[in-house]
Amino acid sequence: MTVKDFDKEYVANTYARFPLTLVSGYGSVVCDENGKEYIDLGTGIAVNTFGIGDAEWIGAVTEQLGKIQHTSNLYFSEPCALLAKMLCEKTGMKKVFFSNSGAEANECAIKAARKYGCDKKGPEYTTIITLKNSFHGRTITTLAATGQDTFHNDFLPLTEGFVYAEANNMEDVKRLCAENNVCAVMFEVVQGEGGVNPLSAEYLTELAAFAEQNDILLVADEVQIGNGRSGELYGYMNYGITPDIVSTAKGLGGGLPIGATLLGEKVKDTYTPGLHGSTFGGNPISCAAAISILSRLDKNTLEGVKERSKYIFEALDGAEGVKSVTGLGLMIGVETERPAGDVIAECMERGVLVIKAKQKVRMLPALNIPMEQLKTAINIFKEVCAK
Ligand SMILES: *Cc1c(COP(=O)(O)O)cnc(C)c1O
Repeated sequence: MTVKDFDKEYVANTYARFPLTLVSGYGSVVCDENGKEYIDLGTGIAVNTFGIGDAEWIGAVTEQLGKIQHTSNLYFSEPCALLAKMLCEKTGMKKVFFSNSGAEANECAIKAARKYGCDKKGPEYTTIITLKNSFHGRTITTLAATGQDTFHNDFLPLTEGFVYAEANNMEDVKRLCAENNVCAVMFEVVQGEGGVNPLSAEYLTELAAFAEQNDILLVADEVQIGNGRSGELYGYMNYGITPDIVSTAKGLGGGLPIGATLLGEKVKDTYTPGLHGSTFGGNPISCAAAISILSRLDKNTLEGVKERSKYIFEALDGAEGVKSVTGLGLMIGVETERPAGDVIAECMERGVLVIKAKQKVRMLPALNIPMEQLKTAINIFKEVCAK
């Protein structure tokens, strides 16, 4: 039997995998079990921030592995404290809770928002507005936060207290606030799984002002767009707004699991001992990995993201078989004339990995993908689209 047979037999049937087993890689190239190489524009869904086998990242991880792999949160640990300091200094947020995934980072944000509403306005202020077509995770509560019925249907009843506003529609937010006791509004500045749809700058500015006036918390889900992918350190920084809570995960650890929930001035003291926790949260290896990633997300890296982004947008603008290109930085959605599934399969044949978002082809390359490899991959993609 092969890896594929074992997987189909023994791994829970939750994933429709591509017919590919990845075994190794270097930089933005991944290799399958037959030694075939692919230029990777997916990075394991925006996780491998600096590609595969990055020497600095490996150095940071292995150095920490040589010291201690896990401490629990019963004790202090240097990588956890240093990473929290770094995140706060780079964002102006005040405190950080560490977990292990995007869904958990959002769970922490949701609990903080409810506790804040309860403390500040009263126990009935528990409702959170999220946006239609959003994606916030797979736990029962983050599914409830996800504004897409298709994710809900088989798992009712979900956690109560979520209402859904039309994206880019301020009147809808105001209506929902009038009808409910709202403590927070939660959004992705670019809806990733929903089809790589950026919110408008005007909407975000209005939303931030409205939230400020009404003491409603602004919660930015930066799980996918965060950590340099937008061309700024966090996506919201492109819009000049200041969220009260920021959740992030995916690219933060550069390939190791970590979630972080950044708490701003208003909610920095909302949590007290015993109210939240995680056995693995703040794991020293994951934190050492994240410190290594974060310390490299400097002006130079972010300029490189913008440059690569500009190249992709320009190369695909008006290209044959391409209907539209949306996104921000190196999170890009392409609407193609051919079905996205066909484009993805044929790109794979030709040695380029891209993924899907709704009916679009999604690209999430490493932030440091070499320009030559990016050009080769985009040219192949264009040829496939034009067929
Ligand atoms: C991927 C994603 C999540 C869920 O993250 P997991 O690590 O899979 O739990 C939540 N929000 C957004 C915006 C995401 O892209």
